[in-house]
Amino acid sequence: MPHQTDYCILGAGIAGLSLADALAEHDLSSIIVEKETIGAGASGTPGGLVNPATGRRAKKTWKAEQCYEAISANLEKVQSHSNTSFYRNNGLLRPALLEKMAQKMKEQHENTTWPDGWCQWKSEGEIQEIHPGINCVDGGLWLPIGLTVDIGSYIKAYARYLENEEIKIICGEHPYPIAEDGYWLLELEETTIKANQLVFATGHTIATSPFWDWIPLENIKGQLAKFKKKRGSLSFSHSISSLGYIANLGEEDTFIQGSTYEHDFTHLNPDGEGESYLRKRLRRTLPQLEGHSKVIDQWAGVRTSTPNYKPILGIHPAYSNLHLFSGFGSKGLLLGKFLAEHYADHLINNIPLYPEVDINRFN
Ligand SMILES: Cc1cc2nc3c(=O)[nH]c(=O)nc-3n(C[C@H](O)[C@H](O)[C@H](O)COP(=O)(O)OP(=O)(O)OC[C@H]3O[C@@H](n4cnc5c(N)ncnc54)[C@H](O)[C@@H]3O)c2cc1C
Repeated sequence: MPHQTDYCILGAGIAGLSLADALAEHDLSSIIVEKETIGAGASGTPGGLVNPATGRRAKKTWKAEQCYEAISANLEKVQSHSNTSFYRNNGLLRPALLEKMAQKMKEQHENTTWPDGWCQWKSEGEIQEIHPGINCVDGGLWLPIGLTVDIGSYIKAYARYLENEEIKIICGEHPYPIAEDGYWLLELEETTIKANQLVFATGHTIATSPFWDWIPLENIKGQLAKFKKKRGSLSFSHSISSLGYIANLGEEDTFIQGSTYEHDFTHLNPDGEGESYLRKRLRRTLPQLEGHSKVIDQWAGVRTSTPNYKPILGIHPAYSNLHLFSGFGSKGLLLGKFLAEHYADHLINNIPLYPEVDINRFN
């Protein structure tokens, strides 16, 4: 007998898991099918930030308030069901590195309505007080609400939470979906799935599917390195966003430096070029630390995004029961849960999709 389900979701990353969760909140069943393992894609990244002030000017991101509320609530929910601690509410420092940059960031800050307590402008002296020795010119921002997440551990805990909620996750399968009259059939090794709806949440491999090869996606490889500090060298508890980021997961002697931004890449592994790039970035942000720390691990992942750097959600023009939920770029944590709730609301209650993320912008 085939497994019958309302939704079959391909991909067990932030996108796939968040959508299954949001659909379950509306009493719809899902089966997630993952071709490798949970978090095998970009969502296996070991250190990531929930940072609502991004880009050169540290602009407030799209739907920042709603996104932050959704991810904070979800982290809390998943954490309360897990013994592994995978996130920290440790704040985020954003120093300017050049006079001009400081001026633009300050202007942007003054012209933005930030929720109370989210984002404060600090003078150079104040930034140095928060983090002695950090490279800073003319001030910067302090975001007490910044979160640091071990995305890979979060994803694994999230999957366990969903399995307890009776969402089935099948790994190591790569079925070719067959469109039947009003449903999809997916032949797995030991079973068959019959799904009313099929969702591709397959991250950077989306364009390799003949259903979606017309979608303009940009894949950018990113490498991260875990550094170990020498004992007694500078210690700090917050994370930093400056020339990439330094994610502080609260381990006494280690931190993660991210990330490279490789538009052209020939392989998906970390390499020596990535390491020296990350070292340079670390030297520019925390000059005193670079000479006192060594790389103990290195990873690579691929972020997938669209020409307007917004995710892509919606129904295939030729199949009314085929969906795409992807394109989270380097903001999967911030955007994933909120947009999963938005998409579920759209499917069930006919709420119009935000035009910025609607797949129809490419039709
Ligand atoms: C170096 C780096 C640093 C990052 N830093 C941050 C950060 O600081 N903050 C932040 O918010 N975000 C960050 N991100 C981005 C974030 O990790 C991604 O936006 C997010 O993980 C994307 O999730 P996803 O589920 O769309 O894709 P993925 O996590 O890639 O998941 C797709 C899944 O689909 C599976 N799959 C593919 N094809 C098939 C198929 N045919 N059938 C079944 N399964 C399939 C893959 O194996 C994979 O597990 C970073 C990403 C990288 C690479």
